[in-house]
Amino acid sequence: MVGMHADTSGDATLRPDAMHEISDGTREVVDRVLRYARDRALYERVPLDRALPPDELAAQAGAAITADGIGAERATALFADVLAPACLSTDHPGYVSFIPSAPSKAAIAFDLVVSASAIYGGSWMEGAGAVHAENEVLHWLAGEFGLPEGAGGAFVQGGTIGNLSALVAARDAYRRHRGAMDDAAPVRLAVVCSAEAHSSIASAASVMDVDVVGVPTGADGRLHGDAVAAALDAHPGVFAVVATAGTTNFGIVDDIAGIARAAKDRGVWLHVDGAYGLAAMLVDELRPAFAGVELADSLVVDPHKWLFAPFDACALLYRDPAGARLAHTQHAEYLDTLTESADWNPSDLAVQLTRRSRGLPLWFSLATHGTEQYRATIRHGIDAAAAIADDIEQRPHLSLVRPPQLSVVVFRREGWTLADYQRWSDRLLDEQRAFCVPSSHAGEPVLRFAIISPLTTIDVLRDILDTLD
Ligand SMILES: *Cc1c(COP(=O)(O)O)cnc(C)c1O
Repeated sequence: MVGMHADTSGDATLRPDAMHEISDGTREVVDRVLRYARDRALYERVPLDRALPPDELAAQAGAAITADGIGAERATALFADVLAPACLSTDHPGYVSFIPSAPSKAAIAFDLVVSASAIYGGSWMEGAGAVHAENEVLHWLAGEFGLPEGAGGAFVQGGTIGNLSALVAARDAYRRHRGAMDDAAPVRLAVVCSAEAHSSIASAASVMDVDVVGVPTGADGRLHGDAVAAALDAHPGVFAVVATAGTTNFGIVDDIAGIARAAKDRGVWLHVDGAYGLAAMLVDELRPAFAGVELADSLVVDPHKWLFAPFDACALLYRDPAGARLAHTQHAEYLDTLTESADWNPSDLAVQLTRRSRGLPLWFSLATHGTEQYRATIRHGIDAAAAIADDIEQRPHLSLVRPPQLSVVVFRREGWTLADYQRWSDRLLDEQRAFCVPSSHAGEPVLRFAIISPLTTIDVLRDILDTLD
């Protein structure tokens, strides 16, 4: 094998610049791929598609990676005809499971520009223009959430990395300010959050080797300040409290103001996980539900969820970016010229170094359409959830598990077992009508609509309900 490899790579007929030069060949590749991307971005009807079993997919796909390459025409066709149809379209109007995606056309198109522009988004020295634009978005978001003037942050890969980065900054601040007190009697460090907090909080705690103190929610499903205060008083070593601004399962917003008071009274860092739900704070009527966010030491919201950006992007914001920088800046001789400047380097604010300027698609879409359009499109999800909840209440076989607060609706089909739900869900996917998998709540199988896309209209949702009769 080694000999064969040496033979091929030593082929004197292969010019080193063949992939990079401007030629009829490379022009053809770029045009072909952009044509495909353009067509996909502008499909009148997005196909829902679905996964295949590994063997079946392998047989259909064949081998694309060969010594001589199969050429752009065949590779593009392979993607278009075999691989893409084996991926669910998360932007399909009938995709209502998990958290769907619904990137705006402007954001999709600009994502291609980010790829074409070879921007290193980690430092001001290398990516000033991009970092400036991303910061404009972050400052706008910070203002909407009521954070003070000096707040700032960075776009990171997703809410999981955003939550981890924020908690690492929180622990660092704790150690700098409080660590000495713990030295006398070492304690396990811990994060307080609700039992309904996203799984990424436990994941972050596991990576950091700290404990999670799960606090029960009230009867309303929300984490409250008094329960947090009791947990903080009972557990030494808590360096952060996480409030969830829109749980993934139900869209429930914790009592952030009460939690903030409990945390602030005890000098503990407040992190708000709004990966899914915090976008709803851009809608006036819902602002009061998020009261207390302005007190956060850090927060996250995912543009790839309810801010209509393509995968993947999480906006991570800190009240005091200087403190976060102390926790995250990487130090090395080869980085000194970057990190010893007073520049704004996004890499210094999270667990990352090289980074894509993944906030730019959102920047472009916001710049193109304006913030009012964003508010109107986010409002659609809230209105559609309220409307379909009313509809569910009217149907004799269906009942709500709880009234929706944001754009997640959880309901049951009376008399159905998990197997009934699964058969129904499989049929909807077979018919390429919708992607709606069974979920569960307190051990009971349930159905759940998560509504992000403005193309997920009330009619689309009613059609799905009609199949439950
Ligand atoms: C989706 C979600 C996350 C995780 O975000 P990713 O972008 O998937 O990593 C964290 N918290 C909440 C509340 C979420 O809904």
